[in-house]
Amino acid sequence: MTSPVTLAENPSTLAVPPRVADTALRRRAAQVIPGGMFGHMHAGNLPSAYPQFFRAGQGCHLIDVDGNRYIDYMCSWGPIIAGYRHPKIDAAYAARVHEGDLMNGPGEAMVELAERLVDRIGHADWVTFQKSGTDATTLCVTIARAATGKRKILAAQGAYHGAVPWCTPYPAGVTAEDRANLVHYRYNDIASVEAALATVGDDLAGIIVSAFRHDFGKDQDMVDPAFAARLRALCDARGAVLILDDVRAGLRLHRGGSWETVGVRPDLSAWSKAVANGYPLAFVAGVDRLSDATRSVYSTGSFWCGSGSMAAAIATLEVLDASDAIGHMARMGDRLRAGLARQAANHGIGLRQTGPSQMPQVLFDDDADFAKGFRFTTETLLRGVYLHPKHNMFLSLAHTEADIDRTLEATEEALRIVARG
Ligand code: PMP
Repeated sequence: MTSPVTLAENPSTLAVPPRVADTALRRRAAQVIPGGMFGHMHAGNLPSAYPQFFRAGQGCHLIDVDGNRYIDYMCSWGPIIAGYRHPKIDAAYAARVHEGDLMNGPGEAMVELAERLVDRIGHADWVTFQKSGTDATTLCVTIARAATGKRKILAAQGAYHGAVPWCTPYPAGVTAEDRANLVHYRYNDIASVEAALATVGDDLAGIIVSAFRHDFGKDQDMVDPAFAARLRALCDARGAVLILDDVRAGLRLHRGGSWETVGVRPDLSAWSKAVANGYPLAFVAGVDRLSDATRSVYSTGSFWCGSGSMAAAIATLEVLDASDAIGHMARMGDRLRAGLARQAANHGIGLRQTGPSQMPQVLFDDDADFAKGFRFTTETLLRGVYLHPKHNMFLSLAHTEADIDRTLEATEEALRIVARG
């Protein structure tokens, strides 16, 4: 057990602080975990000053294992939408698991949560629960194939839909057969969709598409409403299934599904990340027409019915709805974006800020190797602000104007250093 940490402890310094506990844990991890860490949270993908291990989170603040404090803009890569250790959500989780979390079947919370989701999500006539975003996107693809009896899935080049062979961006351990039914198009480029369609003949099961283009290391691109509408029309014309991957953006753009903002409704949507404010949960939402196909697919997992995460999700929805969370995140993101734009212009630095302000991506001009981005985020990190140099970031309900203004003090210094070269 670690003792609670007060946020006033350990003010950041400009030198890389001693990473005694972090270094010790990395050494131990390297003995028992291949590479010492796996996947997207591997600190080896970040500038060397970044910590690998954390001790505590509170609101929008994180404390690493050496006691250094940061204003956090990753929100655990999206899940933390109401803030770390939100009292109401944590209490709902604790109360549920006190009575029972995993049992021989689900609890009442599953039905209650399903009712609320069907009520709020524009296209949803039903939902079904899983644990991870990958579970949800994979189930969507499987339902599309079960419903149509067809094989091919169209997906955008560079889009991330999960870490299993049909969709992982990395080739190790993946066979050509695993990918044989995946055909790529370019996001927001309808001609590329039509070219992809031409190669699949009458074997199209579905088209999977992210809420907006949020590819790693690239400028983000909001969905073109005409593109979304055309995907809808193409799926309708071919009897194929339109799948919205709302795993990353879900609940940050619109309370009822991200494409409600453009007036286009998918047949299936995949959700995870923010739905239970950090407790593990995912779900697929779908239209009536796909209900039978969904029943026909064998979908299950030992942990999928845990009631604690479902109680946390109910509380999360209540907290978000009671506080204009999306408006708040947008306002905080706008404040950050405006401040950064002003500072970059003053320093003569070309900075591109793309995507919704609730999920900002900040990249530098003339920075193909991300050297400027690494310098910038290292300097902000040493001033107590945790940014990501390549991946989109996340605002939460817990970020305040004071947090943004403190962040801007750090970015002002960091940009001055980048401008000096
Ligand atoms: N789809 C999108 C758009 C995602 O961002 C992610 C996770 N980054 C996934 C799917 C996979 O989710 P998970 O990591 O929970 O399996």
